[in-house]
Amino acid sequence: MGRILIKGGLLIDGKGGAPIVTGAVLIEGPRIVGIGKAEAFQGCKDAKVLDCGDQTLLPGLIDCHNHLSLDPRLDNYLHRMTDPIPALTLRACETMKIDLRSGVTTSRCMGDRGFLDVECRKAVEEGRIEGPRLIVATRGIRAFHGHGFVGYPFGGTDQIRDAVRENILAGADLIKIFITGTLRGPKGIFSYFSKEEIRTAVDEAHRAGLPVATHCIGGTGLEWALETGIDVIEHGYYLTDREIDLFVKSGRWLVMTPSIFFTDARIRNLPPNLVDGHLQQREEVARSMEAVVRAGIPFAVGTDAMHGGLAQEIQYLVDFGATPGQALMAATSQAAKVCRLEGSIGTLEEGKFADIIGVEGNPLEEVGALKRIGTVISRGTIKHPTSP
Ligand SMILES: [Zn+2]
Repeated sequence: MGRILIKGGLLIDGKGGAPIVTGAVLIEGPRIVGIGKAEAFQGCKDAKVLDCGDQTLLPGLIDCHNHLSLDPRLDNYLHRMTDPIPALTLRACETMKIDLRSGVTTSRCMGDRGFLDVECRKAVEEGRIEGPRLIVATRGIRAFHGHGFVGYPFGGTDQIRDAVRENILAGADLIKIFITGTLRGPKGIFSYFSKEEIRTAVDEAHRAGLPVATHCIGGTGLEWALETGIDVIEHGYYLTDREIDLFVKSGRWLVMTPSIFFTDARIRNLPPNLVDGHLQQREEVARSMEAVVRAGIPFAVGTDAMHGGLAQEIQYLVDFGATPGQALMAATSQAAKVCRLEGSIGTLEEGKFADIIGVEGNPLEEVGALKRIGTVISRGTIKHPTSP
């Protein structure tokens, strides 16, 4: 296996320390074998050199909440999830390329149709299509009367147990359950599932060693999620002080997905009956997100399918009061923990996968630098810029 020495202007290893000036990473095949100042590798004559100039090198980004076949660029995009599975699969092939090109080397997929995410994961691993490493939830589990355009309806503990087992059989890495909607309704936030149904999903998944994540914005459903042992809460848009307190005590993770409420181009493409609600509740959601950051709930971040937009989601975290370093870790080292892959990705360290990006500027000073991607390396292969 050939070795490549990747040189940059700065190097951020993702562990929270100060960047290394004129940093370099030595890789061999898919793994990192050395890291430090470029001078330290002068004796390393057999390695090819990839000189990234002034770029800042950092760990490949992890999108902690994605859907491969959901595409908010499409008009009325939620309803486009009923397109035929072959159309959705082709769409997934396109969105994976966009994600990878934007520096996302790992995607945690939180529900797609027809187990297409399992096939995409396999195709990426076998090098048949371009895309980030995928961690897949397969079918989202939703209630018959509940929210979840990327999910399938189930009801009662027997059906839910079967749904979890079928997802595991198909190759799920985690289980996703939709407990609430996305907007607070006129009657408040209610849980679409009973506590027993939620507990059944958790017990069944945990017994097989899989974590459970839930689409949950707050309310009784959040308390039940924490009480029944759900591992990761997704969204959490409307957390009250009391819920934030319970959350902190539980030690669970929150995956924040701001663009649903804060990116106008996305809101415009919602079904017309949902547009006003998202705009009207935006300020309230911002207050809740700020409170999450202040309270110290451990968080990671995801695009919820805003493909190519992870850098903007990270920017929103800074708007909510996170430091640029915290916001960056939400898409690298912290995100790797949510994915349970902290032993192999999320920081630049010897032995880990060579998932490395280069950006123009220093994201610890100006987090917007993450939008200026110069280099993408995934498991030791240079994906961008592509050779002529
Ligand atoms: Zn989602």
